[in-house]
Amino acid sequence: SQSVLEISELQLHFFTDKGVVKAIDGVDITVNEGEIVGLVGESGCGKSVTSLAVMGLVPNPPGKIVGGTIRFAGQDITHWTNKQMRKIRGKDISMIFQEPMTSLNPLFTIGDQMVEAIRIHKKCSKKEAQAMSLSMLEKVGIKRKGILDLYPHQLSGGMRQRVMIAMAMVLNPRLLIADEPTTALDVTIQAQILDLMRSLNKEYGTSILLITHDLGVVAEMCDRVIVMYAGQVVEEADCCHLFKNPTHPYTQGLLKSIPKLDGNEKRLYSIPGQVPHPLRMPQGCRFAPRCEYVMDHCWSQKPELLETEKGHLSRCWLHQAKEGSGNNGETNAT
Ligand code: SF4
Ligand code: MG
Repeated sequence: SQSVLEISELQLHFFTDKGVVKAIDGVDITVNEGEIVGLVGESGCGKSVTSLAVMGLVPNPPGKIVGGTIRFAGQDITHWTNKQMRKIRGKDISMIFQEPMTSLNPLFTIGDQMVEAIRIHKKCSKKEAQAMSLSMLEKVGIKRKGILDLYPHQLSGGMRQRVMIAMAMVLNPRLLIADEPTTALDVTIQAQILDLMRSLNKEYGTSILLITHDLGVVAEMCDRVIVMYAGQVVEEADCCHLFKNPTHPYTQGLLKSIPKLDGNEKRLYSIPGQVPHPLRMPQGCRFAPRCEYVMDHCWSQKPELLETEKGHLSRCWLHQAKEGSGNNGETNAT
C-alpha cells in the first residue's frame, strides 16, 4: 500500500550550551495508508521529538534537522517553513496530546475553538462550521446539549480528550499523530478512547501514528510496531509478530514489564538502569549498559538495524554477524 508518512534517516540535533544532543539519530518510520503504527519506548527515547518534527513544531533554535527526510503524502516537507506547515497542520496532519488542556484554550468555548480550527482551512460560514463541529462531536460520542457553548474546564478529562479528537478529526486528516492520548485517563475511559480511535480509523481510513510507552495499548490497537531506544529504532515488526517473537533485548524487557491483568502480581518488572544521557551515549550499542546479553564487542561496535525475518527488523549483535570476524554464522573450521 501507499505510504502517507515516510521518515528516512532522520537526524535531529539540539544545539545546547553543554553540547550537541542527538535526539533523533537516523530514524526510519513509514506509515501506510489506513495503517495504525505504534511508536514505543520509554520517555526520553525520542518518540515525542519525532512526532513534533513531523508537525514542524520543534523550536529552531535549539533544534535542527541535520539529515534525512520527512515525506508526507509524497511531498518532501523536511524543511518547510512554519507558514507552509500551517497549511497542512490540523487539516492533512493532526495531532492529539496526552493533556487536552495544552491544546484547548481555556478562555474560549468548545464551539469557538472548533469553528476557528475549521475556518482556518475551509471557506465556510460560522453556521456550517458549527454544524460540522456538532456532527463530529456526535461521532466521538458527545451528544450533550449546548456543548458548543461550554468551556474546556466544564468537561471531564475523558470528555476533553474526545473534544480534542473531534477537533483533530473534523477536517478528515490523512494522518493522525496521537502522543500518549490515553495515559492521563482511567482504564475505562482509556478503553473507550482507544475504541473511538479505532472506529475513526476504520470509518475514515485515517492513518494513525500512535505514540505510547504502553505495549498493552499497542497490542490492542496497532498493525505494526516500531520500538525506539535512545534516539534510534531498535526493532520493528508486525504487531502480532513482535509480541510472539521479540528479538531485541530492550523489547523483551518492555514486554516483561506489561502489567498482567490476570493473577494479582503487584510488583512490576522494570528494565534495570536508565536511558543513557544524550551527551554520554555509549559508543557501541546504546542498550549495552542495561542489556543482560551484552557481549564484548557490543561496547565498541554499533549494531545496525537489519532484517532478521521478512518485515522484522532488529538492531542487535545477537542477530548479525560481527564485523571483520570472518564468520557469517556458519561452520567454524579449525
Ligand atoms: Fe544487548 Fe549487544 Fe544486542 Fe546491544 S547489541 S542489545 S548490548 S546483545
Ligand atoms: Mg513523550
